[in-house]
Amino acid sequence: MSTYTNEQVAHLVEGSLDWETTFRMLSMPKDESRFAQYLAALQAKVNFPDRIVLPLSPHMFIVQLAKSKKWVVKCDCGHEFCDYRENWKLHASIYVRDTEEAMTEVYPKLMAPDTQWQVYREYYCPSCGTMHDVEAPTPWYPVIHDFEPDIEAFYKEWVNLPVPERASD
Ligand SMILES: [Zn+2]
Repeated sequence: MSTYTNEQVAHLVEGSLDWETTFRMLSMPKDESRFAQYLAALQAKVNFPDRIVLPLSPHMFIVQLAKSKKWVVKCDCGHEFCDYRENWKLHASIYVRDTEEAMTEVYPKLMAPDTQWQVYREYYCPSCGTMHDVEAPTPWYPVIHDFEPDIEAFYKEWVNLPVPERASD
């Protein structure tokens, strides 16, 4: 039996929980319906017919395209980034803060990192401008591909739901 109401899960969706915390909460054993509730709450907020398979950040998901059943990374505004196995960051608008001026626009002066050692890369949706992620790598570090989720295992072993259909390539 679920200990969370749909309304509470909707608050979770609206809230500022980072994805790792959310993921941990959702994948707690014995509360499997929470993930289904979470997906339903997310789905209710978007205007596209494609089914949300897995949230990647508060405003970005892997979705199953309604017509082709292909899985793609999609912003909640409807912008499609790429196939779900690709690194969506390479399809985003990227803003790199690599000067002191750019850093102090967002970080207090003494808190800002030394840009010789660390830069901030911000990844935005090219259509709606939502920032989906920020990295703080050393300047020469390649664009980070966060994780390739094992969605089949997640559905089968963690949330105990049927795996959504996916078009084969
Ligand atoms: Zn967008």
